[in-house]
Amino acid sequence: MPSKIRTQVAIIGAGPSGLLLGQLLHKAGIDAIILERQTGDYVLTRIRAGILEQVCIDLLDEAGVGARMHKEGLVHGGFEMLYNGQRHRIDMNKLTGGKNVMVYGQTELTHDLMDARVCAGLTTVYEAQHVAIHDFDTKKPRVTYEKDGQKFEIDCDFIAGCDGFHGVCRASAPRSAIKEFEKVYPFRLAGPAVGHAAGA
Ligand SMILES: Cc1cc2nc3c(=O)[nH]c(=O)nc-3n(C[C@H](O)[C@H](O)[C@H](O)COP(=O)(O)OP(=O)(O)OC[C@H]3O[C@@H](n4cnc5c(N)ncnc54)[C@H](O)[C@@H]3O)c2cc1C
Repeated sequence: MPSKIRTQVAIIGAGPSGLLLGQLLHKAGIDAIILERQTGDYVLTRIRAGILEQVCIDLLDEAGVGARMHKEGLVHGGFEMLYNGQRHRIDMNKLTGGKNVMVYGQTELTHDLMDARVCAGLTTVYEAQHVAIHDFDTKKPRVTYEKDGQKFEIDCDFIAGCDGFHGVCRASAPRSAIKEFEKVYPFRLAGPAVGHAAGA
């Protein structure tokens, strides 16, 4: 028989999405457990993003985890494109009405979110194996997993699938239940012919 656990929200995945959601829920007084299949060290050394857009900066502040980002991150208000031997300044700050981007590694951001969780005494289960979601479209969703050879079952009100595009959550939902939100811009950087972009 699996050991039973109860929480309001079971979050699958301890990447930036899962950790930030956990922090926002905590601030709202909502109980959550995060299940992550990798070790904490693995997640922390997985090099990925480095640029945070303004909306992300604001959200990290709202979550109360932006202090080190403001201290150590590099603010970029624009960049220059070199084309036909000429520099063209793209003043993002001016063009977007005062918005910037922040250069702050995803690993650092993940570190801050993990630290906040530890400080608040919140539960993250690393190396959770065979995570499976059940009855997620009912009022009594469940998540099962194994840790150190022991079986666990979480009863919850909601399951938040923050386990990425190839994770178990997306694969478990019928295609008709998935609504995608995407913004496609009518332009893009087209490769080497465009030239170099340099942050400034
Ligand atoms: C090279 C690179 C550069 C990038 N640069 C930028 C950038 O500059 N700016 C930017 O905004 N974005 C950038 N991105 C995108 C950014 O890294 C992702 O958007 C971000 O990691 C998504 O976070 P997430 O928490 O949704 O998913 P993830 O970071 O993928 O986290 C999902 C987590 O779920 C866990 N998981 C998966 N399956 C299971 C399971 N079955 N059970 C339990 N846990 C599971 C995974 O181990 C992982 O820890 C970049 C990405 C890459 C690869």
